[in-house]
Amino acid sequence: MNEFRTGIGYDIHRLVDGRRLILGGVEIPFDRGLLGHSDGDSLSHAITDALLGAAGLGDIGALFADTDPRWAGADSMIFLGHVVGLLNARGYRIVNIDATILAERPKMRPYIDAMQSKLAGTMGIDPARINIKAKTNEGLDAIGRSEAIGAQAIVLIAGEDRH
Ligand code: MG
Repeated sequence: MNEFRTGIGYDIHRLVDGRRLILGGVEIPFDRGLLGHSDGDSLSHAITDALLGAAGLGDIGALFADTDPRWAGADSMIFLGHVVGLLNARGYRIVNIDATILAERPKMRPYIDAMQSKLAGTMGIDPARINIKAKTNEGLDAIGRSEAIGAQAIVLIAGEDRH
């Protein structure tokens, strides 16, 4: 018998000069990038946190501290791949992921398919199991002023019922 569990994730990083813009593991041409100890990939971080939440394994900051020099400039696909490994070792598989990028600029549409492929490949799942959407913030707040890019994610995982 399967046990189903859900998890939710949120993340936001500041847009600054002199950084590459990486979202969903894909580099997007833009005049600024996301500030972070790692590559600042808020979409990947939101998905990673949602997976950890679903499995009851805490959060990304506890596993990959932003004070740990090992993760300085790290490719966030490393975090995501590691967390999927933890889930798989506990007998969980990913049923589906739905995520939303919150960004005023640049337009995300041309990069969504590449993000979906990259994330699915890193997680070892069919790309049909992950959906990525993007919205602006209608000019409101820090995201609307293009000072930051945020992301939300929700996941469903399935595993053996242990109860
Ligand atoms: Mg983050």
